[in-house]
Parts: sequence; C-alpha cells; structure tokens
Amino acid sequence: MILDRRNFLKTTSVVAGACALAEPSVFATAGGPGYESWFNRPMRWAQLTLVENDPGRFDPDFWLSYFKQIHADGATLSAGGVVAYYPTLVPLHHRSDWLGNSDPFGYLLNGCRKMKMSVIARTDPHAARQDVYDAHPDWIAVTARGEKRRHWANRELWVTCALGPYNFEFMTRVHKEIMERYQPDGIFSNRWAGHGICYCEHCTKNFREYSGLSLPESNDRLDPAYRKYLEWSTKQLKELWVLWDDVIRKEKKGSRFIPNGFPDKVITGKLSDIVFTDHQARSGVTMPWSNGKVAKELRASIGMKPLGGIFSVGVEEPYRWKDSVQGEAEIRVWVAEGTANGMRPWFTKFSGVIYDRRWLSIVDKIYQAHYRVESYLRNIEPIARVGVVFPEHSPNYGGEAWQRNEGDHVLGIYHALIEDRMPFEMVNDQLLDTEHLKPFKLLILPNIAVLSAEQCDQLRNFVERGGSIVATFETSLYDETGRRRNDFGISDLFGISFDNGMEGPMQNSYLRLKNDPATNRFHPVLKGLEDAYRIINAIYRVKVTPLSSFPGPVTLIPTYPDLPMEDVYPRVPETDIRELYLRETGKGRIAYFPGDIDRSFWQIMSADHGKLLRNTIRWALNEEPIVEVDGPGIIDVTVWRQEHSMTVHLVNLTNPMMMKGPFREFIPVGAQVNIKVPQGTKAKEVHLLLSELKPAYEIREDRIIVSVPAITDHEIIGIDLE
Ligand SMILES: [Zn+2]
Repeated sequence: MILDRRNFLKTTSVVAGACALAEPSVFATAGGPGYESWFNRPMRWAQLTLVENDPGRFDPDFWLSYFKQIHADGATLSAGGVVAYYPTLVPLHHRSDWLGNSDPFGYLLNGCRKMKMSVIARTDPHAARQDVYDAHPDWIAVTARGEKRRHWANRELWVTCALGPYNFEFMTRVHKEIMERYQPDGIFSNRWAGHGICYCEHCTKNFREYSGLSLPESNDRLDPAYRKYLEWSTKQLKELWVLWDDVIRKEKKGSRFIPNGFPDKVITGKLSDIVFTDHQARSGVTMPWSNGKVAKELRASIGMKPLGGIFSVGVEEPYRWKDSVQGEAEIRVWVAEGTANGMRPWFTKFSGVIYDRRWLSIVDKIYQAHYRVESYLRNIEPIARVGVVFPEHSPNYGGEAWQRNEGDHVLGIYHALIEDRMPFEMVNDQLLDTEHLKPFKLLILPNIAVLSAEQCDQLRNFVERGGSIVATFETSLYDETGRRRNDFGISDLFGISFDNGMEGPMQNSYLRLKNDPATNRFHPVLKGLEDAYRIINAIYRVKVTPLSSFPGPVTLIPTYPDLPMEDVYPRVPETDIRELYLRETGKGRIAYFPGDIDRSFWQIMSADHGKLLRNTIRWALNEEPIVEVDGPGIIDVTVWRQEHSMTVHLVNLTNPMMMKGPFREFIPVGAQVNIKVPQGTKAKEVHLLLSELKPAYEIREDRIIVSVPAITDHEIIGIDLE
C-alpha cells in the first residue's frame, strides 16, 4: 500500500492539532491551569532498557528497590517499538518472544507509581522484523542504491523509514495504545529521527513535492539539495512530534511526547516542557567538559526548562560494549559536569539481567549526594557575565581551506575559559535579542562568520547598551545565505575594514608583543607575557585595514623560511600590522583578532595563545569576574541562583588522563574562592555541600572568600542568602 501522507493527515482523526504546526503556541497550555504539571518535579532519573529475553529472567523487584534506594523520582521504562514488553494488540507490534503472559512494563510502571515516581514509556521505532517488511515493504528505509536497508548491527532486522507511514501511522497506533492502557507521564522515543537519507518511495515523492528536487546523493552540507533536505526532514520530524504529542495528550492531559534529540535546538525549546540529552559518556579524545558544554548549549536554547542528562555507566566507543562498566572516577566526573551545568542525572542501563554489578554503588553514591543537597540544585538561573555565541545551524560556510574544522574556534574559546576558571554561558546565535543577552556584559564570537543584518543590528544594540565583544577571524563576513559581504557586517564595531584577502596557512610567523612606547608599560592583554618579545602566530589571518588609530600591543611578524636552518631569520623583523584590534566604545570594549587564534589554540594548545585569549577576555569584560578561583589544577566553575541561595560548582578536571579518557583516579586540589554575592542580598551561611566540611570563610563587603580544602571530583559551595 502506498500511502499519501497528506491524505493520511487529512483523514486521520488523531492529527486534529496538526493544522497548528506553524504555531508553537499550540503548546502554550502545557503546564497551564487544569492539571499539576510534573515536568519540574523529578530530579534523578533511572532508565531501564530491557532486552528481549529479559521477561521471566530479570527481577523487576530488584530494580524497583534499587530505584527506591537511590531516591530516583523519575523512570523511563521499555514499552514498545521494535519489541513490545506488554501484551500489545497492535498488529505487527512484536511482543517479546519471552513475554508469555507477563507484562513487565506494566509491572514496573505500577511499582514506580507506588513510589510516586514520574514514569515515561520508552519506544524505539528504528528497526522492524521480517513480518513488517512482508506486510509493508514501503515502511522500510531504502539506500541510495535503491536497496531495502538491513539493520547494520543485526542482519535479521530492517531499518525503518522515519519520515513515512511506519512512524506516522504504525508508531502512532503503538503510542496511542500505550497511553490508553497505562497513562504514562510521557513517551520517550529513541532513534525516532532516521539514520541518514532514506530513498524510499514516500521520501522520494514527498521531498520532490516539497522542493521540486530529487533526494540528494550524499550528506554534503554544502550541496544545496542536501540543505533543502535538512529543511524538509526537520519539518517532517516536527510534524511527527506534534502528531504524537497530540495523540498522547488526548489520552492524558499533561503527558508529553519527548523526542530523543531534534535537529534544531530553538524549536526544541519552543515545543518541549522537558528535554533530555543523549550524550552518555566520552570516547577517544572527547574533553571531560563536553557534557557541560552540551548542557550550556541547550540551556541557551530552552531556557530553564528541566534538562535531563542521560549518562551511560559503560564504555561509549565505536565498538559499543553495551554491557560494560566504567571506573568510578570517569562516571563521577562526567555526571558532575552535567550537574554543575544544570542537568539532572539520568542513568541508563541496558538489560534487566546484570552481569557486572560494580556500577550500582557508584550511581548510588552520586544519587545519594544529589538527593541530600537537592534544594541547592533547584536552580532558577545561571549567573555568568560572559556569553560564548555558538552557531545553531551549519549554513553554507566551510568550503574554503581556511574554513575547515570550524567547530574548533568555539572549542578553543571554551577551553581557554575553563583554564581561566571563568564562569560563562553559551549563547545561541539565533537568540541574540535583548532579553536573551540581558545577563551578559561580554559576548565572545569565535568566528561567528555567518550573521544576518538583523543579527548584526542585535550585536550593535548590545554594544550600545554597554556590552563588550571579543571576536575572531571571519566573524560577520558572511550573510545568512553564506554569501561573502564586501565588508564585515559589524565593521563599524570592529573599527576595521575587510581588505579582501586571507593569508595562510602561515609557516613560521609570529606575534610581536610590545609595550606602549609613550608610557613604557605593557597593555593588560599582555599580562604574563611581558618578557616574551614575541609568541607564535595563529595559522590563518584575515587581511584588514584599520579605520582609525589603534594601540599596537600585538603586531605581525610575517612568515620567514623555516629551512635550511641557516636561513631561519626574520626578513621583516617588525611591522605595525595589528593582529589584535582593541577599542573602547562608551561603556563597552571591543577586541577583534584577525587571526584564527581560537582554532589555533585548540589545535596546538599553545599556553601563550591561552594567556593572550584569557587576558583579552578579561580586558574586554572590564569588571571583576563574579567568581575567582585561586589554586592549582583545572577547575570548571559554574554559578547558579536558587530561590534562597546561590551555588558555585567546582568540578575538578585535573587528571593525567584529561586529554584521553577514562579518568583512573581523583587528584584532589584545594582552592581559594572569591565570590560576588548578588546585589540586594546578604550571605547568611556558607556550606561545602558535597564534602560536608565546615569551610573557613570571610565576608568582605559584597564578596565572600571561601577556602575549599580539597575538591575531589565535585564540590558545591552553597551560600544561603537573605
Ligand atoms: Zn523513507
């Protein structure tokens, strides 16, 4: 049967709300009067993903008592999709071969309910069996070569098409049945959004109707057809989200569809009441702060809606040892980064039968501490004066040699801020309006190359209100279509003009660091570099022309031969070409680096680049940071406000395994922490919430100086306010 999706939408009763697609306000009633919204209540989540042969073999009561012991107040339980763990009546919905007369989903759900936990049913629609293929071959995903797609990990299964009737029709029936029978608080779908481009008859036809184009041959994001495809598939997924959400809410007001991931964070923020991130652990050279970065980027986009951080207790590597267990230090640091950045922990465990039990006590320890200090984790807002802008979309940028690895610009800034212990937040480039920028004194634009005229105006307004900017490389040189402008979109803010050229990769080039000849003093951006004379340059530089006079603390020493060694001497020892443009604009300060110093820092990790970046950021901030941390080691610092308190989270990332996991052991560090108390409040008492040690502290006007004797993995300074 070939199903025309538009007819399906028209003729199916469950999509009554789908006409409101373009109106996110369709969700405005969520959490409104009429029912008690549950979204904000659960603080600690447990996910048990059953495997098909669990029924009859695993002990559900063990799990229920474990949930109780660790004070989990939310659970996500396997219900249906590729395998049904309840006696489903939906045709082709495969009951576990081990199910017999049992209903493990219902049993666990009822047990959780008795403990007053919120319960979300988990479905996984991405794979199907041969009987589904035989009955509806058009539900199966198709490869670019026109072949039905076998499941890559289990050859007995088929990959389903996410954007066709399998999801829109079949999974809608499954979700409706789960809601009718069990009334969970939500349905969470894993792998619901497809696995690459599907070339099935529905996708081919629907994409052509939408765009007039054939499906793109590959996922090259510079291919206009692929960009159109992304637009179309995002729209389809949004329709599917709204459809399932509507079905779910018809059965139970206040219950929601919760997708595991969606391609657009701004839309996610508009459509959701609760969001979970699926960033389970590190692999390879993933930074230990990566979980915090994901949390910050989502918060920038969804505001203070509850954010759950799914973490794995196992090894997350390409070989997918799903039954493995990591060491304690690695699990704890990963979760600490999430908690410090406002995520609520959600452990996920596959298989109801446990092989390696070591993780149970580790998660227990984490959750017990979380439960004990819960009131200090109910954050109202983050407190940070520095915002790092990140691009929400990957538009038509990145085709030139100097534009490769564009994500490294943000990573370099992120790491420089971590090394500086500077509290900061991420800022979504689609949300630069006054309201979103209000908390910030300084915005950092790490090669935010693509900016519309409107976004440029928003940045101008920010500076007019007294804001400061640090920007690098091609920031604002391209419009929102990816077309290069004749000049920077915010050339007026930078005080420079584009000189129509790019230099690099530069071999053996340097930055000359100079004092001011008039005063003989070094500019604050050179603090700690006074005796360097020169440091290594970045790898690429944009050619620019200043529009007025600038101080010259950092100037270019052009490339000179690096071989033969006899030839290695600067041909031009000195220029007056600035590689850092510093201006003051009323209350704000602007610093622009024509070089890709942030990306170079990430790639080379030169300590000198780190210093220059940190000094420049502090100069532009032009106020004392809200928290200063003195002492050895690498510490991620985040600051939050709660109703009656504020907290400073210190996550200790000091570790010889920091650059490549997993952490083997904790290396405790002590710190002296100087904290600014929010205006209009007074500190009553100071706690070290996780170690429960009595801190020595001293109050000096609006600041508190706290001695933290030892941070193991995570310490939270809690300050009661009045
Ligand atoms: Zn398809």
